[in-house]
Amino acid sequence: MKRGQSAAVAASSEWVGDDGVRQPGGEVHAWQAGTNQTLCGLALSRTRLRRFPHVRFDFRATDVITPEDEVRHICPRCVAATSRRGERNWTRVSPRP
Ligand SMILES: [Zn+2]
Repeated sequence: MKRGQSAAVAASSEWVGDDGVRQPGGEVHAWQAGTNQTLCGLALSRTRLRRFPHVRFDFRATDVITPEDEVRHICPRCVAATSRRGERNWTRVSPRP
């Protein structure tokens, strides 16, 4: 798998926005185009998750789900897997010798 590639979204349900574009709903996971499983290891075929190659997985651990959101659950393992790659929310202080 190539590193630094941004992950797309796989979700348990979908809805269509005002612009006619499919949007993820329900439970969302990160998924890398060309693979058939989520970053946390769920098989897309077995879990019936839908793929959203046009939607970037840009959820953060700090995201708050409001009652109006179609998204009900953001997979914490997929958030961790995608935020580890040098993105802001995951600052790790390098230990001093
Ligand atoms: Zn996941």
